[in-house]
Parts: sequence; structure tokens; C-alpha cells
Amino acid sequence: MPTAPPRHDHYIDGAWVPPADGAYLPSTNPATGRVWYKSARGNAEDARRAVDAAATAFENPAWRDLPQPRRGALLRRFAELIGEHAEELARTETLDNGKLLTEMRAQLASLPEYFHFYAGLVDKPHGETVPAARREILNYTVREPLGVVVAITPWNSPLLLTATKIAPALAAGNTVVVKPSEHTSASLLRLVPLFEKAGFPPGVVNVVTGYGDEVGAALVEHPRVAKVSFTGSTGTGSRIAASCASRFVRTTLELGGKSPNIVFDDADVANASTGIVAGVFAAAGQTCVAGSRVFAQRAVYDEVVERVSARAGAIRLGDPLLPETQLGPLAIESQRDRVEEYVRLGRSEGARVTAGGQRPAAGPGLAEGYFFQPTVFVDAVNSMRLCQEEIFGPVVAVMPFDTEDELIGLANGTEYGLAAGVWTRDLARAHRVSARLDAGTVWVNTYRSMSPMSPRSGFKSSGMGIEHGTEAMREYTRLKSVWINTDEGPAEDPFVLRS
Ligand code: NAD
Repeated sequence: MPTAPPRHDHYIDGAWVPPADGAYLPSTNPATGRVWYKSARGNAEDARRAVDAAATAFENPAWRDLPQPRRGALLRRFAELIGEHAEELARTETLDNGKLLTEMRAQLASLPEYFHFYAGLVDKPHGETVPAARREILNYTVREPLGVVVAITPWNSPLLLTATKIAPALAAGNTVVVKPSEHTSASLLRLVPLFEKAGFPPGVVNVVTGYGDEVGAALVEHPRVAKVSFTGSTGTGSRIAASCASRFVRTTLELGGKSPNIVFDDADVANASTGIVAGVFAAAGQTCVAGSRVFAQRAVYDEVVERVSARAGAIRLGDPLLPETQLGPLAIESQRDRVEEYVRLGRSEGARVTAGGQRPAAGPGLAEGYFFQPTVFVDAVNSMRLCQEEIFGPVVAVMPFDTEDELIGLANGTEYGLAAGVWTRDLARAHRVSARLDAGTVWVNTYRSMSPMSPRSGFKSSGMGIEHGTEAMREYTRLKSVWINTDEGPAEDPFVLRS
């Protein structure tokens, strides 16, 4: 008899807590189409419990009064524990979202670095002594934690995107409630007991699972939440921003993209083509920074199309757990349908497919999963929906350009501004073009590089606020200015402004 898939509860106040109304959600392995676990389907009551637990933990002297170096030690211990469980966590992510095990191993290997980096910053943020107009006034500033931070994440890189939020949030002394994607909760649920093992007091980290419009919205609207840090689609980000703005709750928003990957005629075209493949076909294009619009200068356009189409046609699809696989399934069935719909749309708009364009023929391991061939379009123009809307799949449009000025107009010609790639051997051009691109990250002669040390942000509809780097830590603090009058003489005239 087949065994029932395991069920996971919420993690609140250091304990596993069943959902308030007893409901659970199935989660599917996208490589097989089979349900492999169920997670709690949270509601407003679960959201309330989790935020209340985090608010209580924020006031708990065991956390609030913990000296900074000891807070750093907890983060370091946690980083070591991730290292000890990295293989199990990487496998869990692959089973949950279908990304290659080789990629998830690399992500998990980098995860401890985020906690080490912010552990190193725990005792660095300090205020300033501010010059005062009067000698008897001492004016200084202090950076304080905000309180309860809600972190909401998407399905494409569940733990990495969680780490970018909770590592600086905890380092700054906040408490957190994390709501992972309803499609990929498993790895976080396996990670979270490690917080307890590392020694974090109960309630400092809480996890509630379920749908965005049920438990996610309830978290965002809870009056005791000080900040919402969100990664996901621009539409959801806009709704969260509006809700938070009406109550002056702070937000950091990392949203969608339609990033240009640009090849100048002086570039090493072989390297650039590898960068294009890495930019849009790695992770089956399910990355916010996917280089889904390629602009190739006229003299190298044909060569770029030829190389990228040939590489795309040769990519090995299959079981993401196998080391020889280069492209796994899309994470969700509806996402595969969406990609298919965009390919249909691209054709109807007049663009032409030079590689891929459909589901693969049912080969070994491909029959049941949500696979789609890596797809290259030519004869596209930047104003097409194919080139304006985020597809979040393995689909790229290659377009020609003639001059640098024309290129800048095309590259910046979407609502997004997340990332851009530039391939050139001309140093002056590399700087000139980087300066003119509307993108929070510009890569020159590389693509998709990232590190906890380097700030990431989205311009235009790609978001607000900064993640990674020392800047991110500030986003989880508030700045207070304290004025001390050291003069014990008679009080001044109450009707005159004092400086
Ligand atoms: P999504 O917006 O549908 O969902 C993201 C998260 O928000 C999920 O946990 C979901 O449950 C929750 N959510 C949905 N509605 C909500 C609501 N009303 N209130 C509160 N929470 C709600 O996005 P997705 O489909 O899971 O992820 C794909 C998107 O994420 C793409 O647009 C991609 O570009 C973006 N993304 C951005 C970055 C970045 O750093 N800029 C990184 C990865 C993914």
C-alpha cells in the first residue's frame, strides 16, 4: 500500500503547531508530477499566532539584551549547522522546485556565507556623535532593530532568498516570521529546527506556510509588524507596498525583471554566447535576473543567433537529480502552461523560433514532469509582449542593434530595471554603457554572479530597497537621534526654538 505523503505543521515559538483550521496543501515534485508532502495551509489565525510569538520574542531579554558578539556567535553556529545539512537541504529543494541538484548544491554551499557575513556586521553598526550648536548639548544617534520582520519568498530559490532577508534582519536584532512559497516550503521547514539547535530563543524565527492571499496577506496586515521584506512578482509586490504604505510599514521589495544581455561587435562571441545560455537557460529561466532579451550588434548578430540556437538545441533535459542533466522541469505545472502560452504569443506577434518552442517528446524521465524545451526567438522587436513581459522560463529573444545610443533606448525600454549583461573588450565602452543602463546590477563579461557582499536592488518596477551587502543591514534598523542637555542651570525661555 502506498504511504501517505508526510505532513508539515507551522513552526511557531519554537514548536510545531498544526494549522488553526486543520487544512494542509499538497506539494508536487515537478519532475514527476507526484505529491510528495503536504504543508499547513495557514490562515489569519495562524498569522496572528506567529506575529504575536515574534513580538513577544522581540521583548524577551534573552534576545533583546543579548550582547552583540553573542548574537553574532549564534549566527555563526547556525551557518555551521547549514553546512552540516547542506546535502539534505539541496536535495529537498530539487525535489520541491525541480532545479538541478548541482545548482542547489552550489546555492547551499554559499548559504553559510550569508550568515557569516552578517554575523561579522553584528557589532559594527554604530551611531555618531553629532556636532551641536551649543556646548552643553550632547547629540548622538543610535541604530535600533525595528521589531517583527515578515519575510515572504517565491519558489525559485527558497533558502537563498530567505537567507538574504533573515540574516541581516536577525543580525540587526529583529525577530522574523517567514512565509515561503506555497509550492516550496519543505527546505525551510527542514532548516528551521537548526535555529533552535544553534541556540536562538523560541519565537525569534517562525515559519508559517500556505497561500499568499490567505496567510501572506494576513501577515502583512498584522498591526505588530514593523517591516515586510518581499521577493516575488511585481503584481504581488505592488499590492503589498500599497497595504504597507497605508500604515507606514517599511518594505524591501525584490520583484520581476526582463533583463537585457548585450553583445557588442568587439566581444568574445563564444564567451558571450555561453553567458547568454547561462543567463536564460540555467535554472530553466526561473530567475528574476534571467537575461531574456539579447541585443547583439549587427556585425555579430548572425553568429550569436547561430551559437545560442545550437547550444539551446543541445541542452540535455531530464531528472534534475542526475549530474548529466542541464535543464530540469519548470517548478509548477501552471508555470509550464504560462511559458507555453508566451511562446504561442511570440509566434502570433511575428517572432520566429530557431530552437525549442515546445514540450520535449516524452523521453526517459520526461513523460510526467513539467518540462519545456529551451527556446530561442528571432525576428522579434522590443515592443512585443514577448519582449516586455516577464516569462520566468527558458525563453530568449535575440534582437539586432546598430549604435550604442539605439542600444541604450532598447535595453532600458521596459518597465523593469533589475539586471543587465554587457559583453565587450572595450574598457571605455564597458563603463560608459554600465553608467547608462537602468539596472540595479550590471555584469560585464559575466552574468548571474552574486555574493552576500555585493548590494542588489531593482530599479523601476523591479523593486525598492537593497538586499545583500552592508546596505541591507541598515534596512533592518531605525535611526534614533538622542539630545542630552548637560547644563543643570535654570530652564530656558520656553517660547524660543533651541538648537
Ligand atoms: P508571487 O508574487 O506569486 O509569490 C511570491 C510570494 O508571495 C509567495 O510566497 C506567495 O504566496 C506570496 N503572496 C502572494 N500573494 C500575496 C499577498 N497578497 N500577500 C502576501 N503574500 C502574497 O511570485 P512567484 O510566482 O512565487 O515568484 C516568481 C516571481 O518572483 C517572479 O516575478 C520573479 O521575477 C520574482 N523574483 C524576484 C527576485 C528578485 O530578487 N528581484 C528573485 C526571485 C524571484
